[in-house]
Amino acid sequence: MNEFELIARHFQRPAPSALLGVGDDAAIVRPTPGCDLHMSVDMLVEGRHFFADVAPRALGHKTLAVNLSDMAAMGARARWALLSIALPKADEAWVAEFAAGFHALALEHGVELIGGDTTCGPLTLSVTVLGEAPSGQALRRDAARPGDDVWVSGELGLGALAVRQRLGWLTVDDADLLQTARQRLEYPQPRLALGRLLLPVAHAAADVSDGLMADLGHILAASGVAAEIQADALPSDPRLEALRARYLDCLAAGGDDYELVFTAPPQRRAQVEAAGAQCACRVSRIGRIVEGGGGKLLDAAGHPIPLQKEGYDHFG
Ligand code: ADP
Ligand code: MG
Repeated sequence: MNEFELIARHFQRPAPSALLGVGDDAAIVRPTPGCDLHMSVDMLVEGRHFFADVAPRALGHKTLAVNLSDMAAMGARARWALLSIALPKADEAWVAEFAAGFHALALEHGVELIGGDTTCGPLTLSVTVLGEAPSGQALRRDAARPGDDVWVSGELGLGALAVRQRLGWLTVDDADLLQTARQRLEYPQPRLALGRLLLPVAHAAADVSDGLMADLGHILAASGVAAEIQADALPSDPRLEALRARYLDCLAAGGDDYELVFTAPPQRRAQVEAAGAQCACRVSRIGRIVEGGGGKLLDAAGHPIPLQKEGYDHFG
């Protein structure tokens, strides 16, 4: 099977909202009047972002999911995607599974694949995603204000738990919990619905990909503020509650969560709760924004808890 057959069979799909999709030199889309275009790209490299033996369907899902998570963090609606893929060989069964995982998530969120690039090389995947939000509205990282509450969606730490177990850095005795953790790692669910509902409610947001304290740190740096985070308030799976102290690093700085960390003024607490309820996504208030710089993780007595690292850094 050659390159063009591979593309036609596995990546060419109807894209009714695009003026021109896969098959020409470029795709053409017409942004919705009154909306700004949000654009983002993310790359996944074997051995760095995923284990070489990951199921191709899961990889297809995750390749798109991590990009949609960026749109969620802007409060944007994800609309179109471009997929660049370097493959060591034209393994059709592998590509079919990869594409199935990718297309299933795209369909779920109404995202159309409108182009890409396919080459031979070490397994590398990159998605460019285009999204829209009403002009002038976005959940930017530079919009946190002193006095804001800090919130996080979903549950933290499970993806990191699965990675560390796999690397032999820790053991997880509860087989059931490990199964859930692996599922979270391989099939993260981008919080697009929550992001859009938060657009008129929250000030700043980021998605938690590298670790909560690291990604919150980007908000703090961009906004010129500090944060106090209550370690006891970090949400996690109930099965982890008894082991919180042992796995605090995973919760606070593990990464691979693809949840949203965001800030909102205290008068909007009820609206944040309502947004979470409307899209059936847990939202937890974990701390507050104060004057200054940097993020502190505090124990119940208000003492700072030192972390080995705040999150993952490719060149750190
Ligand atoms: P070019 O030679 O201009 O780079 P290609 O021959 O690489 O064009 O691609 C042909 C068409 O297939 C283009 O419309 C391109 O966007 C699309 N395409 C290539 N690879 C992918 C892919 N992995 N997913 C989606 N579309 C793809
Ligand atoms: Mg090309």
